[in-house]
Amino acid sequence: MSTETMNKEILRGGQFLVKETKCEDVFTLEDLSEEQRMMRDSTKEFVDRELWGEWERFENKDYAYTEETMRHAGELGLLGIAVPEAYGGMGMGFVSTMLVCDYISGATGSFSTAYGAHTGIGTMPITLYGNEEQKLKYVPKLASGEWFGAYCLTEPGAGSDANSGKTKAVLSDDGNYYSISGQKMWISNAGFCNMFIVFARIADDKNITGFIVENDASNGITLGDEEKKLGIHSSSTRQVFFNDTKVPVENMLSERGNGFKIAMNALNVGRIKLAAACLEAQRRVINEAVRYANERIQFKTPIINFGAIKGKIADMTTNAYAGESASYRAAKNIEDRISLREAQGNSHQEAELKGVEEYAIECSILKVAVSEDVQHTADEGVQIFGGMGFSAEAPMEKAWRDARIARIYEGTNEINRMLAVGMLVKKAMKGHVDLLGPATAVGEELMGIPSFDAPDFSVLFAEEKDLVARLKKVFLMVAGSAVQKFGPELEKHQQLMMAASDILIEVYMAESTILRTEKNAKRFGEEAQAVQIAMSQLYLYNAVEIVIKKGREAIVSFAEGDEQRMMLMGLKRFTKYTNYPNVVALRTQIADKVAADNGYTFD
Ligand SMILES: Cc1cc2nc3c(=O)[nH]c(=O)nc-3n(C[C@H](O)[C@H](O)[C@H](O)COP(=O)(O)OP(=O)(O)OC[C@H]3O[C@@H](n4cnc5c(N)ncnc54)[C@H](O)[C@@H]3O)c2cc1C
Repeated sequence: MSTETMNKEILRGGQFLVKETKCEDVFTLEDLSEEQRMMRDSTKEFVDRELWGEWERFENKDYAYTEETMRHAGELGLLGIAVPEAYGGMGMGFVSTMLVCDYISGATGSFSTAYGAHTGIGTMPITLYGNEEQKLKYVPKLASGEWFGAYCLTEPGAGSDANSGKTKAVLSDDGNYYSISGQKMWISNAGFCNMFIVFARIADDKNITGFIVENDASNGITLGDEEKKLGIHSSSTRQVFFNDTKVPVENMLSERGNGFKIAMNALNVGRIKLAAACLEAQRRVINEAVRYANERIQFKTPIINFGAIKGKIADMTTNAYAGESASYRAAKNIEDRISLREAQGNSHQEAELKGVEEYAIECSILKVAVSEDVQHTADEGVQIFGGMGFSAEAPMEKAWRDARIARIYEGTNEINRMLAVGMLVKKAMKGHVDLLGPATAVGEELMGIPSFDAPDFSVLFAEEKDLVARLKKVFLMVAGSAVQKFGPELEKHQQLMMAASDILIEVYMAESTILRTEKNAKRFGEEAQAVQIAMSQLYLYNAVEIVIKKGREAIVSFAEGDEQRMMLMGLKRFTKYTNYPNVVALRTQIADKVAADNGYTFD
């Protein structure tokens, strides 16, 4: 780890809300090393060569082709990016693993789901929680693609409530093995995997336990038929039935009762990688949409010339840029914290576990934001294609269907919204993030007389950064008062939690976007970053609108009388622009650039 990183204060998870981040301290896609660029380019080449042109096979449920391409990805080393070298992987950093998840996702959700399920939730539980024997036995096979993994958590009666599963694990009389019986549902890669991570309950334990279970039909394992799904047609998704399946005791992962923790931590990693996996999907939709809009003539002009179409292209592009900005910012935070912990003497395994756990809030934020952006982008892509958008012959229809799953798996967006705020409140209670101090300061500010000095907003992003700082105050005002009012009962006020979460999400996304552009404007010049500046301003404008709406909704849900009036006044003050951006001009500027480049060229 570089001395620079060691000396730099690495923000703790959630601290972005109460501490100022300098643009020099955020990592951006423009900071990729030569090695990382090569990784990205070879991933893109793989997608173009083996996946992009074969979309019809994926649409026609050619599960065998998914398996074949996964095996080939293994031969190329793409399955072992995150796996330490000692277990047959490439041992690359977190940013590199994000890059591969990102760029491998462009062609089809079927492949990216198979890839994510195998490398993430199918392999990570062993690399993060396995003992040395387990890691040596299973991980090299998974890293090379000789074996494929799947993750069995969900059951017919246990979805979001993942710890309520009924699958049982009973220890044999001789103490040599567990007998696992139960039904798992929606298991990605089930049709071709060699190994399952299975969560089951021992006796009446409060928490489930994780096991590594080899796929062997002669050991009481049967599969349901392939699920008939809205999208990701060639991703194998089946029920898995365990009937007295014997699993040696040495295949228990970590300790008895630790399964829920394993499941949740595996999902944390899965969530941020899923966000990455929604990025290239967005870029490719934008590319297709722009190319179509440049060529499609109506009223004697390419439809790209219509303001209505430009507005869509600009919003789609801006959201993709924001998603990139926030995803790689968080990825580098995770990578740095892992390195810091290793430098402090933690094993790589322990460092990785704690590094990702630290940023669970950001992982949830990203999962929600980017999964909703990819869906919105695909939806607008359909609209830009008009009737052809509705045709299964054209690329938008499948992109639209494939995008939909991202809001459901790896924890639904409702669950992740509540987790983001819930985890932040818990961190505050543990003293890891000081929310109370800043929340009290905001309360005092509201009681005081506002300054009437005209601020100097002449420097690039001076007003935007001031606004982001004030949006943080909106969150602190709303969440701080809500915690005071409801205490631990807050989680029962779900609509309030969801509104607070939306504010939190917009703060993180807007800040990340502005910091990326500010950093690049400083080194490449403002002129070179003119469109990125426009995107940052447009994103913030949209974010402010969301914060106003959600902030008002939250405040009136629990505050009354003078308190309500004061908070609504605060909301107005904290979301006020001195100089409104001309968002129509911004959108036009962004869309004109994308149209001229005939695609997305900001990554
Ligand atoms: C294609 C596909 C692949 C999948 N792959 C895997 C896999 O490989 N392994 C695996 O283990 N699972 C997998 N899943 C399962 C997936 O993780 C679950 O579908 C998801 O967690 C939601 O659970 P559920 O379907 O039971 O919905 P439910 O939990 O029944 O939720 C239904 C609705 O209620 C909401 N809801 C539930 N609880 C609450 C609450 N407390 N507060 C507010 N709202 C709530 C949800 O947000 C949702 O909108 C997959 C699912 C699909 C569709």
